Amino acid sequence: MNLAKFERRGYVKEATPIEFLPNFSKALGNKINVYIKRDDLLPGTSGGNKTRKLDFCIADALAKGADTIITCGAVQSNHCRLTLSWAVKEGLDCYLVLEERVKNSYKPEASGNNFLFHLLGVKGISVVEGGSNMMAEMEKVAEKLKAEGKKPYIVPGGASNALGALGYVSCMEEIMHQMFTQGLKFDHMVVPSGSAGTHAGIIAGMIGNNINIPVTGIGVNRPKAKQQEAVHSLANQALELIGVDARVPADKVVAYDDYVGPGYSLPTDAMVEAVKLLATTEGILLDPVYSGKAMSGLIDLARKDYFPQGANVLFLHTGGSPALYAYLDCFNK
Ligand SMILES: *Cc1c(COP(=O)(O)O)cnc(C)c1O
Repeated sequence: MNLAKFERRGYVKEATPIEFLPNFSKALGNKINVYIKRDDLLPGTSGGNKTRKLDFCIADALAKGADTIITCGAVQSNHCRLTLSWAVKEGLDCYLVLEERVKNSYKPEASGNNFLFHLLGVKGISVVEGGSNMMAEMEKVAEKLKAEGKKPYIVPGGASNALGALGYVSCMEEIMHQMFTQGLKFDHMVVPSGSAGTHAGIIAGMIGNNINIPVTGIGVNRPKAKQQEAVHSLANQALELIGVDARVPADKVVAYDDYVGPGYSLPTDAMVEAVKLLATTEGILLDPVYSGKAMSGLIDLARKDYFPQGANVLFLHTGGSPALYAYLDCFNK
């Protein structure tokens, strides 16, 4: 498997740390040893998983002569914040199309990522109804910009196409190398599963490198069967893009929907508990929409003895803490 043949911008300069969480593991009764992969510490404004994917996607945009990036996400999208951040760094204009997945949730003066969109100098924001065809909406923006003589490039939601997923194939290779050099052994991995590129890349990286660690995805949006289908299909597309002949057995893809609660981005008590527990035991901030819900899944599964006693479980921290500041109410109550 040769990832070096793909253009990258070099946004990921060094491996993110893998840390053991002794206090957090103790709070869960020391049934398992929880480790965390700190992708919240990746470069780009406030860190997070989209930097790994954008490393490939923005390289493609520049190779195609783009001077403007268009992307989309929810109203508190970390992906939009990071795409904008890297566009700024590259001297590219950036336009965002925000999907109001929860009715009336877009507030121009909101804190969190929304505040950062403005601080980072977004060139334009358009807000569309939940359930809109986001690609079609981004194409409308692209047509308008082309008419003005610009060269726009569309990064899909979450940068979750096969090219973006290579960022997490690369992350899996990074983890493999850290296991080797640091003498670490993992029995299980837990990852957030949203637009699917992260989960798919990890699985493709496992298959491509013959690593057989079970991966449990924690969905934040779609029903289980739909999410698994999305991850499975994208993981296979990533393997095809790299030129690996193997395909992902369907039973390797697990993405529980038990921790979504009332819906995407809507808080749950278990998410609040998870965010507070990691903050107060280890001083690490999760987020309300992805990593907090994913950690609430890990906590529940540990309590239900889903993992074998004494297992070393690696949690992938995908970032997102700026969104906390748009959710003060659910933490203050
Ligand atoms: C986007 C995002 C995810 C989900 O990653 P996908 O590749 O979209 O599945 C998880 N955590 C955070 C903080 C994110 O911003």
